[in-house]
Amino acid sequence: MLNWRRLLRVSNRSFFAFIFLFSLSTSCLYFIYVSPGIANTYYFMVQAQGIMLRDNVRTFGHMIRLYTNKNGTLNGTDYPDGSNSSEVIAQPIAYLPENFTYAQNLPCPEKLPSMKGHIDVNMTEIPMEKILQRFSRSSDMGPAGHWKPRDCKPRWKVAILIPFRNRHEHLPILFQYLIPLLQNQRLQFAFYVIEQTGSQPFNRAMLFNVGFKEAMKDLDWDCLVFHDVDHIPENDRNYYGCGQMPRHFAAKLDKYMYILPYSEFFGGVSGLTVEQFRKINGFPNAFWGWGGEDDDLWNRVHFAGFNVSRPEGDLGKYKSIPHHHRGEVQFLGRYKLLRYSKERQHLDGLNNLNYTPKITLCSLYKNITVNLHPELAPIPDY
Ligand code: UDP
Ligand code: MN
Repeated sequence: MLNWRRLLRVSNRSFFAFIFLFSLSTSCLYFIYVSPGIANTYYFMVQAQGIMLRDNVRTFGHMIRLYTNKNGTLNGTDYPDGSNSSEVIAQPIAYLPENFTYAQNLPCPEKLPSMKGHIDVNMTEIPMEKILQRFSRSSDMGPAGHWKPRDCKPRWKVAILIPFRNRHEHLPILFQYLIPLLQNQRLQFAFYVIEQTGSQPFNRAMLFNVGFKEAMKDLDWDCLVFHDVDHIPENDRNYYGCGQMPRHFAAKLDKYMYILPYSEFFGGVSGLTVEQFRKINGFPNAFWGWGGEDDDLWNRVHFAGFNVSRPEGDLGKYKSIPHHHRGEVQFLGRYKLLRYSKERQHLDGLNNLNYTPKITLCSLYKNITVNLHPELAPIPDY
């Protein structure tokens, strides 16, 4: 009988080593493909450990030098070399005192006494009924989760858009923290949950475009917040109003060890005025599956001449609810699309999108269900 291993002069040991390494690397690649979020988190954690280790070594070296040089600090400050002092000491922020009196005809201030700072987030699942009992009957909640302050004029009318598919247990946890935060900030707001049906990969960006168009039919919103359902703010001084520049609220995520993963990171929770969002032609529609659409939004914002602003220090901290990817796969075409962000910006976005929504009014939000598929946003091939 022909023994092809002998013919190729491969020993038994190398043959098995080859089979072992081959299956190991294939399983790794498969894991990265089917669990993009987890793989990405692990990758980032390794990177962040490196950054923290380097900083600790630097701080440790600095301490040794301080002890051996009793004349004072080395660089004329009390902070370790190279550290950003604005990060170390929070700027004194003037929040209004408890006895501040509101005036119905004046705009609500941005730094209110009701904004206390750190929030202890508990991510244990909670039934939606409990959240409904707590908020819909009390605290003047209008239909579909619409709320506005009565003691002053809200500075911003904020539509909170939440892309959604099969994450029912996350929604009540988000409401539990987000509703009091927005009320403490005296913003006018309502929630739009944009739910994807059908068999296509998840398209977070296209859902946001649909949500925007639908929300604008209800009210003349002036600020849009694009909010992942699993991101829970940990500080109520992270102001959910908009500004001169598009805002990236979720600057420090627990899953990334509270370090910005890369300076162009624009994922999780971001906010644009209606005017800014129209100017950039919204989100791209062409990103099917996990990844890339937030980077494309970053590019769009910069091509339109904006910069991105972020909350200072610990204000931008978020906890992300751990989850599995339940069959969601990476969008491997994202690198190619990102190379042509500029060319695609005015071809793909708010201006080439058609859809047929199914709308349901729930007590705390408006549900917009859409069956998405690529033919809804035709685009020349890029
Ligand atoms: N999402 C969803 N169902 C899915 C995939 C995504 O509802 O199957 C929404 C949800 O709001 C989520 C956001 O899209 O927070 C971002 O997706 P994901 O959480 O999968 O990204 P990751 O956290 O892994 O970056
Ligand atoms: Mn997530």
